Amino acid sequence: MLKIIQPIVSGKRSFSLTAFIVAAVLILTGASADKAIPLTVIDGRKYISLNDFTKALDLENSFDHIYQKGRLYYKKHYMVYKSGYAVAVIDNSLFTSSYEVKRHRGGIYLPADMALAASEAFYPGFTSLLEDKRLILVQKKQEERKADHVQIYTTKGRIGFIIIDPGHGGRDPGAVGKGGVREKDITLQVSLKIEALLKKKYGNIKIMMTRRTDRFIELAQRAEIANREIKKDVNGLFISVHVNASISPKISGFETYYLSQNPTNEEARKTAALENNVIILENNAPADDVEYMEALMITSQIQKESSMLADFVQRGMDNKISEFRSRGVHRADFYVLRGALMPAVLAEIGFITHKKEAASLRKNSYQDKVAAGVCSGIIKFIDHYNKMIEQ
Ligand SMILES: [Zn+2]
Repeated sequence: MLKIIQPIVSGKRSFSLTAFIVAAVLILTGASADKAIPLTVIDGRKYISLNDFTKALDLENSFDHIYQKGRLYYKKHYMVYKSGYAVAVIDNSLFTSSYEVKRHRGGIYLPADMALAASEAFYPGFTSLLEDKRLILVQKKQEERKADHVQIYTTKGRIGFIIIDPGHGGRDPGAVGKGGVREKDITLQVSLKIEALLKKKYGNIKIMMTRRTDRFIELAQRAEIANREIKKDVNGLFISVHVNASISPKISGFETYYLSQNPTNEEARKTAALENNVIILENNAPADDVEYMEALMITSQIQKESSMLADFVQRGMDNKISEFRSRGVHRADFYVLRGALMPAVLAEIGFITHKKEAASLRKNSYQDKVAAGVCSGIIKFIDHYNKMIEQ
């Protein structure tokens, strides 16, 4: 083949011979890549070195070594990823891979399908392809570009895990009621009951707790425990259990919240402010973390699902509890729900500042009722959700 190209090379002196040979080889092997990035196989899985990826695609990368998370930018496009997680945020959409971003030999490696999705977002004028040993980008023809549409990366999996989050714990007692009753103890007791009921019901769904003892966990960490479980085809749900407090000893009842930056009313805003207080007890409070803002932006779909989950949980409690009134479902900006990349709700199971309700909340039989109510709501939601995504 050199015989064919040699005369042309000599005719165009400015053209480098090696570049020409490389181009010719690419044409002859059938793959004319405009950009090519080699794949690395680690433990039998295909990865792309972050270093190669950023260089080949001319991306900017910022990496936070403490949180092991990073962000890639190209023009107005971005991707947020985290070491140890199969989920990434690409241009306000969720992408889930079947395996995690990996640290390997001092470098960061992205799952090949995640790198592919990111390259498609960063370079919409190109077609990205995974070959045996490399990821390639080929420029699209004019007519292909016209037919371009915005790609949605959200892959919806069935509910494969449930995270139960007992509010507060350790140095954070939560609300403290009459006779020294502490929110953190009630939330743990009720959560353990919810866990036991769900474990009895589901053999094929992983049931997890953010804490099983009296210990302190930062708010951001609670959602991270949940997000770590998301994989391609495996979604989850997150329920945080709390006990409410009011300056008025007359207020009682149970309610369920889902995340929104626009609280339902002043009462909802106050409840959220109360629950968010714990941030001052945290060591590395990410006060204005851009990532959480992004998590908020992608939540319109998740918000819809969360609102549905809140309805089911609230109705479930209402069916079991007759002693106190249902205060309904509300929207509020709860920090603990902000980072969750799945349907997530917060149940305020009663007021610790109401004498009769506080006494009930301490009783084993009443806690059983609350747990049964929450649990039946979760079961109904899962049935509904799984039917919905199969359509
Ligand atoms: Zn609380």
